[in-house]
Amino acid sequence: MTFKELEIAEPILRAIAEKGYTNPTPIQEQSIPVLLKGKDLLGCAQTGTGKTAAFAIPIIQQLFEDETRNRNHRKIKSLIVTPTRELAIQIQENFKAYSKYTDLRNTVIFGGVKQGKQTAALKQGIDILVATPGRLLDLIGQGYITLKHIEYFVLDEADQMLDMGFIHDIKKIIAQLPHKRQSLFFSATMPKSIVELSGKILGNPYKVTVKPEQATAEKVEQSVYFVAKADKPKLLEYLILEKNPDSTLVFSRTKHGADKIVRKLAKAKITAEAIHGNKSQNQRQRALGNFKNGKTKVLIATDIAARGIDVSELSLVVNYDLPNVPETYVHRIGRTGRAKASGIALSFCDIEERPYLRDIEKLIRQKIDVVRDHLFVDSRDESSFVPPEKPKQNHNRRKKTPGNQGNKNVWRRNKPKNKPRQS
Ligand code: AMP
Repeated sequence: MTFKELEIAEPILRAIAEKGYTNPTPIQEQSIPVLLKGKDLLGCAQTGTGKTAAFAIPIIQQLFEDETRNRNHRKIKSLIVTPTRELAIQIQENFKAYSKYTDLRNTVIFGGVKQGKQTAALKQGIDILVATPGRLLDLIGQGYITLKHIEYFVLDEADQMLDMGFIHDIKKIIAQLPHKRQSLFFSATMPKSIVELSGKILGNPYKVTVKPEQATAEKVEQSVYFVAKADKPKLLEYLILEKNPDSTLVFSRTKHGADKIVRKLAKAKITAEAIHGNKSQNQRQRALGNFKNGKTKVLIATDIAARGIDVSELSLVVNYDLPNVPETYVHRIGRTGRAKASGIALSFCDIEERPYLRDIEKLIRQKIDVVRDHLFVDSRDESSFVPPEKPKQNHNRRKKTPGNQGNKNVWRRNKPKNKPRQS
């Protein structure tokens, strides 16, 4: 199957040929014809499957062929909502590339930066808008954006959207969309809450499922290193120096941990940058830009910041900490081995993380090779392992104030219900 056979318009064919795409990926092959017919779509797929082009190409084509579109007074006809700023930027870059030989205009808006440039772009008149939910609602509230003319709506990474506490924002956005529209809904997983949400957006959709779990896991060469927590920095340093990969993406469970890894590597004269939610948007973009253009060879990331990041020809993924959610492992190793490339993923597993390893192997239905002859091998047997006793909490440390009589539930009551938002 070729793109030509999918009846893609010539200017788009030319643009995707320049990107080096010759054949559609399975999700593109299944979705593009249906979307060109105007049907709604429910896609169970994650990034790495080619899903961005699967929705971008038909949207571009339909707008391009719409003769009624007023080129002098452009109205936002297509809206793509995605949870993180990095994904939003990436999606817009794709729209820009695929539509470069058309007259369509697009822009991207996200939080964490001043709005001036974004509102200036909006004032110029655009056809396609890629947005994170917070900034979108903000600019709607300020009168810079109206959703009244939307004809094509995409909700991307819906499960992550809910995980990040965006459900109310999403509902507010949907409420402002015209009833007559084509809607596309993508999620890597389909728990009940997501199915319910999709029901509010889609009318009798065509369903596509691309199972990346096994596919990704089969393409990527994976191994695991049993190593004590304290030896992980040295093992990382050793592997980077020994393997000398062009680009290494290291996953840390925590933001603090990510910064610590950067500092440890710096001591070994390895330059690395970190990308996580505590960094400003400019720092995040700079770190990602440096990594994509090869200026920095090592990027340390937390999961939220790295989800969906597309770095072509990423050589190595290191799971410095094993994730406790097995699907996260698949997302992480999916950063390498994208589309048709193959990649390498190495995981560090300390004795407390062995149960996580078992869960991952169950999900990917594959045993991950254990590297037994490395310098920092932890040969302790799991059965002999006694978890260290957690230090007792000193409740008296908390100051007594009129509102807090030393009752530990005060903390729980005051805790925000939703996780902090990112956009
Ligand atoms: P996505 O799932 O949209 O993040 O895409 C993953 C990667 O696959 C990106 O680097 C795309 O540029 C690339 N890609 C998408 N479609 C194709 C295709 N038909 N042929 C080759 N690469 C593709």
